[in-house]
Parts: sequence; C-alpha cells; structure tokens
Amino acid sequence: MSTLQEEISRRRTFAIISHPDAGKTTLTEKFLLYGGAIAQAGEVKGKRAKAATSDWMEIEKQRGISVTSSVMQFQHGGFCINILDTPGHQDFSEDTYRTLMAADSAVMVIDGAKGVEPQTRKLFKVCALRHIPIFTFINKMDRETRDPLELCEEVERELGIDTYAVNWPIGCGKEFQGVYDREKGRILFFEAEGRGRKASVTEVALEDPALEELIGASKAAALREEVELLGAGREFDLEAVRSGTLSPVFFGSALTNFGVEPFLEEFLRMTTAPLPRISDQGEVDVFSPDFSAFVFKIQANMNKAHRDRLAFMRICSGKFQRETEYFHVQSGKKLRLSQPQQMMAAEREIVEEAYAGDIIGVFDPGLFAIGDTITVPGKKFRYSGIPTFEPEHFMRVAPKDTMKRKQFIKGTEQIAQEGAIQIFKVPGAGLEEVIVGVVGTLQFDVFEYRMKNEYGVDLYMTGLPYDHLRLITACPCKPEDLVLCTGSAILEDFRSRLLVAFGGEWSVGFLTKHNPGLELADSLSV
Ligand code: GDP
Repeated sequence: MSTLQEEISRRRTFAIISHPDAGKTTLTEKFLLYGGAIAQAGEVKGKRAKAATSDWMEIEKQRGISVTSSVMQFQHGGFCINILDTPGHQDFSEDTYRTLMAADSAVMVIDGAKGVEPQTRKLFKVCALRHIPIFTFINKMDRETRDPLELCEEVERELGIDTYAVNWPIGCGKEFQGVYDREKGRILFFEAEGRGRKASVTEVALEDPALEELIGASKAAALREEVELLGAGREFDLEAVRSGTLSPVFFGSALTNFGVEPFLEEFLRMTTAPLPRISDQGEVDVFSPDFSAFVFKIQANMNKAHRDRLAFMRICSGKFQRETEYFHVQSGKKLRLSQPQQMMAAEREIVEEAYAGDIIGVFDPGLFAIGDTITVPGKKFRYSGIPTFEPEHFMRVAPKDTMKRKQFIKGTEQIAQEGAIQIFKVPGAGLEEVIVGVVGTLQFDVFEYRMKNEYGVDLYMTGLPYDHLRLITACPCKPEDLVLCTGSAILEDFRSRLLVAFGGEWSVGFLTKHNPGLELADSLSV
C-alpha cells in the first residue's frame, strides 16, 4: 500500500455530541490521555481558559468560554484520530451543527441518570441526516442511574435508531461492579479506589456458577435475565452500524476512566475510515492523489490586530502540502493556503502536510464562504453544500444612529455571509431594520460586539417571540392575506424566499388548517 493510502486508511474523524454536563469534556480528555496528547486530566479545559486570555475575542475573555469549536488530533493503536469538539452550553450555534458535517462518525455521550436530553436530540438529528455511524456511551455508571434497559429503549424510541449493547452494566452507583462484555464473555470489574488504573478482567460465561461468587446471587440473576432479554433484540450487524441505523451502546464512567479504553478500541474497530464525499460531479475518490476539501466553519477575528478570519476545512481527498498551489472553485482563483494549522490537543501547530480525514484551519483574507470547495488547479467540482439550519432565536435589529445605515447594511450582510447569523426582513420593507435569526443566543452578543467594533454601529435589539422558521413552498394567496396566529410573522430572506416565523410547533397545525393550500418545507435548505 502506498503511503497516501496507508495514511488515509488510518484516519478516524469523529465528533462527540452530548447535552451539557453529560461528560463530553471528561471523555475527550480520557481519549487524549490514551493518545498521549495531553499529560494529565484537566488540560483540555485549562488550555481553553488560557487561550481565552490571549488573542481571542474580547467576548470570549469576558465570558471565559470558547466561541469556536476546535479539532484535536492524536495517535492511538496505529490510528490517527481527529476529534471534533462541538460547542455546547451557551456557545451552541450553527457552528455546532456545521462541525458535524466534517465528521465521519459521532460518539453520543448520555448521562445515565438523565437519558436522552434536548441538545443530544438536536445534534443526533443532524448526524442522522448524513447516516453516519453513531456510538452511544452511557456515562456516570458510578452514580445512581436509570434502568439500563429503559435507557436503551429511550434511545431507540426518542432517536429512532436501533441499539446493540456491546457491554452490560452490573448495578450502578455504590453497587456498580463493572460491565459484562457480551462478545468476549467476560466481566470488567470496576474498582472505585483504582481511579485511572486498568480495570481487572475476569473471563466468565453467563451460565457459569462462578458468576454468583463473583458478583453475588441477585446481581448474577439480574445480569442473566437482562442479557437474555437483550439477546431477543437486534443482533450485531456491522453494516447497520456503518450506515447509521444501529448504535452500539457501551456503559462506563468517564470520570473514573472505567470502560473508556475498551470503548475507544471497539469504536476504532467498528467505525469507518474517511468515506468518499459527494460533489456535483459524483463521488470523489478519497485516495485520489489530488487534494480537495470543503470549508465548514469560518472563525472571524481571532486576532484583532489583523482582522483576519480562519477558515476550517475538512480534507476529503488526497494529501495537503504547504506551499502548494490550490484552486478555490467558487472564486475561480488559484491560491496558496497560508499558515495551515492543526490542533494538537489545545495547541495550534503549523502543518506541513495533512491527509483526507484531517481538518486544517487556514487564514482567510475574506475569500471563503461556508461550503466552498478547494481543489487542485484544473479540477472544478464542488462538494454539495452545507445545509442551512433553522434559527431558534430572533431579534429585530436597527442602527441607533440612522446616519450609519450604510455601515449597518454592510456589517449585517458580511456577518451573515460568513454564516455567523442569518438575516431576514419584513417583505416589502427597507433595510433600515433587519431580523436576525440564530441557533444559539451567544451569537447575538457576538454580532452586537462585532457591529460596534468592526463597523462602528451601535444597535437597537429587540427580542421576538418566534422559535421556529419554515420555508413557504406554496402560498394559496398573497402573503399578507395569510391567516396567522398571534406571535407569528411572514419574513423574507435575502434570496427573496418567503418564510413564516412562529412560536411553538403547534402553530404549524394552525397555519395549515387556516390556510388551505399553504405548504411549508421541513428544511431551509431547499
Ligand atoms: P460536558 O459538559 O459534557 O463536557 O461535561 P463534563 O465532562 O464537563 O462533565 C460534567 C460534570 O460531570 C463534571 O463535574 C464531571 O466531573 C462529571 N462527570 C463526568 N463524567 C463522570 C462520571 O463518569 N461519573 C461521575 N460521577 N461524574 C462525571
């Protein structure tokens, strides 16, 4: 096998998705520890906090959070692993969703006491759109949790995916004894005091009377019964895992490092190397020697003195080399990508070369837009774009000083074009005021900050009661004659498409009932 093939085949690029506090950071940190990318726990969060005091946006400093999502690369067991961090908490935004477009699979961390939570559900939906493999890690088994069977059923019911439990917990909380590995027929014992040390392993068949001695009669009976019930469910099927219809489930405790290593090993074994991506000229061969990539995220103003932006791109084929001439398909320009960077744990590094599966960040002189394709000169295909995600928060925005109208329009349009906000207007109205829609409310603060600092415009911002937006695909009458419920409005986007904004999912029923012939699309990306 050539080096190119070898390098690409050993890439594993995935995102970790979860609801805040389920344990995503803790699990990421344990992964990085296995890869030797960090020396001790606590470094991921610590470094983030440090970065925030250097040249990140003022707003990050004030809030002590990271507005960007980062990528961490490490080596383990011959694999080259890229973890895409998906921003959560208050910094949840379209970028969180877009990051998922760059991943080949996802690890879903669920808090065993809480089950499927709202943010997990949202992120899962985006992963499911692409049919990528999804692995479930049910965390915090060292605490009191819900019934494991119930948790698996909830994942199946709420997310519409089948599950296959690779291992099964023996008790939880104070009674947690470890997990039973169904395939290998062995128990991995949990030792609370042995934090971070390797768990001890005992080979034992379920029917073996020794099981009673090992875990006690009642736990042995429960384990036998539960594993038998599991046996009646879906069988393991690697194809189904890889096409995203069956999620392998693992139980463990990230904090005590229990079950993390076996999870990582199984995950690496079951998930896929980079798969071909679709372009307007068909599938692009991952192993083609020609470099190609698409931009999935643009980070503005990392360094205020320079006003530059950083464009993050996912390499989809071939090998990237520094100081090589590439081609930006959307502008038709040849270019060298300057200062290509990669993240090693939380440290930035200039990279000389990178392969399909990897993510690089390059300085962007204002050339790139989300979804753009970069290829080698002579190749002009475009990767299929990144969908537009439905905003959930809306504000009416106008400049305080009406003399600043021009700067106001320029600023909002540029920031929207970067993909940091979405902008709409009331049909027929001018641009004196716009309606800004976002996925996460922090984006409003970033927008306000940037309008003032980059464009010199102070804003009036008024909250609006909508939390949903649907594209109108068929309108039976003039838009102004539609029967609307309170708290809803007709908006127009900058492609002159009509949309309806409303509060609460139930309004869809009202709108379609009172306006026969009205048709609304499920997605904004049609
Ligand atoms: P994130 O918001 O998903 O990144 O969650 P964190 O990794 O920051 O974890 C949230 C909290 O849960 C922290 O206080 C962790 O120490 C704790 N935590 C994470 N994993 C476990 C676990 O396996 N057991 C217990 N008891 N606590 C955990």
